[in-house]
Amino acid sequence: MLILAAVLVTAGCTTRSVAPEASPHETDSPSEIVRTSPPPPDPEEVGANELGVVPVLMYHRIVPEPESVYDRTPEDFRAELQRLADENYVPVTTAELATGRLDLPAGTHPVVLTFDDGDPSTIRVEGDEVAPNTAIGVLLDVARENPGFRPTASVYVNEEPFGGGEAGRRALRWLVDNGFEVGNHTFGHTDLGSSTPDEAEEAIARGDAMIRDAVPGYEPASLALPFGIRPTPGSLALRGEGYDYRAVLLVGANPAPSPFAAEFDPTAVPRIRSQGPDGPEAEFGSTAWLDRLAAEDGLLYTSDGDPTRISYPRGDDTLHPDFADAAAPY
Ligand SMILES: [Zn+2]
Repeated sequence: MLILAAVLVTAGCTTRSVAPEASPHETDSPSEIVRTSPPPPDPEEVGANELGVVPVLMYHRIVPEPESVYDRTPEDFRAELQRLADENYVPVTTAELATGRLDLPAGTHPVVLTFDDGDPSTIRVEGDEVAPNTAIGVLLDVARENPGFRPTASVYVNEEPFGGGEAGRRALRWLVDNGFEVGNHTFGHTDLGSSTPDEAEEAIARGDAMIRDAVPGYEPASLALPFGIRPTPGSLALRGEGYDYRAVLLVGANPAPSPFAAEFDPTAVPRIRSQGPDGPEAEFGSTAWLDRLAAEDGLLYTSDGDPTRISYPRGDDTLHPDFADAAAPY
């Protein structure tokens, strides 16, 4: 967690609105340093709560004819993204969430969009363009129509991503080049719970190496556990020979704690399955959770617009002690 604190402080330094270099008309006096953006608003006015929860939504296939509860149609997927934009969510990646790099406008809420299994319906790159009928194509379109809705996501792949071959590797590079996160889902979609520690480490390391080979210079930063099943010990999913992650994603079935909360566990970050209001276990799906997060005051992470401080209503005692220096209760 000390690393997280360092990242937070670094992020703060880079976003402080000071003139980067003195012009001939400026003096060296600190009093001459000029803010280039307005100060963030009063945290209470925007209902800031940076100890609130963050939905990490889980998608698999985006297909016209769903065959299981893990599939969503392109129309339902687009409607869910539009709902997120309308409700002032801003997409961030798993790595950004886990390291507390949440530099978002005041009053907005982080959401992580995750895609598992490297299904061909996730992305297809044609020339330099993403095919519009893929999940990432729809996300790009919604982002174009909703300024401030950042087009990013975390995409978890196995061997042969997006149908495999050079087309799949090109899609991985497109994702990284365009600010998306590519994460590991193990090479062979391995059940790490029934693997020996050596087998689990090998399955994770091989998936990691596949991504590094496809995207030279890129270092995967997170793992989505196949079937949501953890290895023994659980820490092996986070760190092993050949990989070192910031976060490990589970499958169900509730929002993630704030990365600044004592409860945040990088080895077990929960997700919410994207789902309409009906069907099996719909009460744990995204429609039900987004309804609840919208209805219950104070539950959701709401940004104060200032990455250097952690604002939350006074009386909340769930802050991780490593972040005490940035605490800004109000
Ligand atoms: Zn999977």
